[in-house]
Amino acid sequence: MLHVVSHPLILAKLNIMRDENTNSKDFRQLLDEISSLMTFEVFKDLKTHSSGKIKTPTGCEIDNIKLDKDLIIVPILRAGIGMSNGVVNMLPTAKIGHIGIYRDEKTLKPHEYFCKMPKVDNPLVLLCDPMVATGGSASDAITQLEKHGYHDIRLLCLVGVKQGIDKVLKDHPNTEIYIAAVDDKLNDKGYILPGLGDAGDRIFGTL
Ligand code: URA
Repeated sequence: MLHVVSHPLILAKLNIMRDENTNSKDFRQLLDEISSLMTFEVFKDLKTHSSGKIKTPTGCEIDNIKLDKDLIIVPILRAGIGMSNGVVNMLPTAKIGHIGIYRDEKTLKPHEYFCKMPKVDNPLVLLCDPMVATGGSASDAITQLEKHGYHDIRLLCLVGVKQGIDKVLKDHPNTEIYIAAVDDKLNDKGYILPGLGDAGDRIFGTL
């Protein structure tokens, strides 16, 4: 399932990120803000339950509302790190895992070079990766997470193209993808057009 989260605030912020003159500090700040805004949409269907009661300062007793699901946030190294802070700001109790994957150039098989996940039973995983170009890294990361026993996975992205989105959904039909914009195409180097360049380089100033 694809959810295009198009909101005027997100569009306006994303537009500034696309500008080649936007510096790393502003780029990071905007990615942070967009990630926070998108978090509302990603989790709007979460169920809640009452766990006891709390008292308000006006002497009323009300239900103590808790989320039914434990959430973990998993940025794909390295650009995904630029999204995790904005999500965590909305979900301060969520734990964060990290996953790093590269693809063997000869065998084309994905290799996980880093995976450190929090110990949470049966969580809802929010995988973060700003750019879905070919869809290879997002699809590989979901495959790895499934091997580690995670099956309730949502993917939070900023910009993608149809080709990459289709690949992720073909490989992992149960994954829900939340994205701010679907761009036109890839260039011959695999960059999204119009896109915003290399997200990792722009986040970390490694241009
Ligand atoms: N990764 C990026 O960071 N940017 C693109 O345009 C494509 C993949």
